Amino acid sequence: MTILDGKNLSKKLKEELKEKTNTYIQQYNVTPKLVIIMVGNNPASQIYVRNKIKAATYCNIAAELKHLDENVTSEELLNEIDTLNKDDSVHGIIVQLPLPKHLNEQQVINAVIDTKDVDGFGIINKGKLFSGANSLVSATPSGIMKLFKEYEIDLTGKHAVVIGRSNIVGKPMSMLLLNANATVTIAHSRTQNLKEITKTADVLVAAVGKAKFITEDMIKDGAIVIDVGINRVDDKLYGDVDFENVKEKTSYITPVPGGVGPLTIVSLLENTLIAYEQILKNK
Ligand code: NAD
Repeated sequence: MTILDGKNLSKKLKEELKEKTNTYIQQYNVTPKLVIIMVGNNPASQIYVRNKIKAATYCNIAAELKHLDENVTSEELLNEIDTLNKDDSVHGIIVQLPLPKHLNEQQVINAVIDTKDVDGFGIINKGKLFSGANSLVSATPSGIMKLFKEYEIDLTGKHAVVIGRSNIVGKPMSMLLLNANATVTIAHSRTQNLKEITKTADVLVAAVGKAKFITEDMIKDGAIVIDVGINRVDDKLYGDVDFENVKEKTSYITPVPGGVGPLTIVSLLENTLIAYEQILKNK
C-alpha cells in the first residue's frame, strides 16, 4: 500500500508555481492578482481563506480579501463582483462558500466572469468541462488528477466510482475521470446497494461529508482510494474513509489531512495563473 502524499506534492508544485509566476511577471510586467470575496464570518471559511492567501502570497500571486458584511444584499454583492469583473488588475475571483442563506449561491457564482472564475464553479466553465473543451476546472477534482499523474496511475479502462454528486466535487470529478478514459459510476444519497457498487471500484473517490463512512467491507482488494471528506469531530479531522481499517486493502490511499486538501489550493493558484495568462495574451 502506498500513501498518496498530497502535502509533499503540494510543496513541490508550489515551488514550480512560484517560478512560473516570476517568469510571467518578468514577461508581462504585471503581478497576477486573486481576489477572494468572503461574506460573513463562517469559522471554517476564515481558515480556508487565510490558507489561500498565505499560499498565493508564497507563490508571488497578489491575494486580496474583500470581506463583506453577513447582511450584504444580493445587489451589493453582485455589484462588487461586477466591479471586479471589469477591473483589469484582477485576474482571478473567488466567492468563498457557503454564503448566508439569503443569497442565491448559483446566481452569485455565475456572476463571476468565466475568464476569472478560478474556482471553475460557474456554468460556462462547467459546460466547457462537460464538453471536453479547455476550461478552469474545479480545484479539488483537478488536485486529485495531479496525484494520479504524480504517482503514474493510469486510469484507462479502470472502473472509477465517485460517491457524491455535488457541483464542486462529485460531478466535475466524474468528468475528469471520464476524460481520462475511466469507466465512471456516480453514486449518491439515493443510490441503492452502495456496497455492491463500491466493491467493484478500481478507483473509489469518496466525497460524501460523513466521517469514516467508507469501511473495509466496501473496498475491492487493491483499490485506489481517494478521500475528499473533511469532517471535524470533537476538534479532530476525519475523512470519509475509515483510513486505519481500509488502508491495508488498498494499493494507494490518500490520508486526511495531508492528501487531497493541500492540492486544492495549488490547483486554485494554478487556475489563477492560467486565467492571468489568457487575459494578458488576449489583450
Ligand atoms: P455535498 O454535501 O455538497 O455533497 C455530498 C454528496 O454526498 C451528495 O452528493 C450526496 O448525494 C452524497 N451522499 C450523502 N449521503 C450519502 C450516502 N449515505 N450514500 C451515498 N452518497 C451520499 O458535499 P461536497 O461539497 O461535495 O463535499 C464533500 C466532502 O468533501 C465534505 O466533507 C467536504 O468538506 C469535503 N471537501 C473537501 C475539499 C478538499 O479540499 N479536501 C474540498 C471540497 C469539499
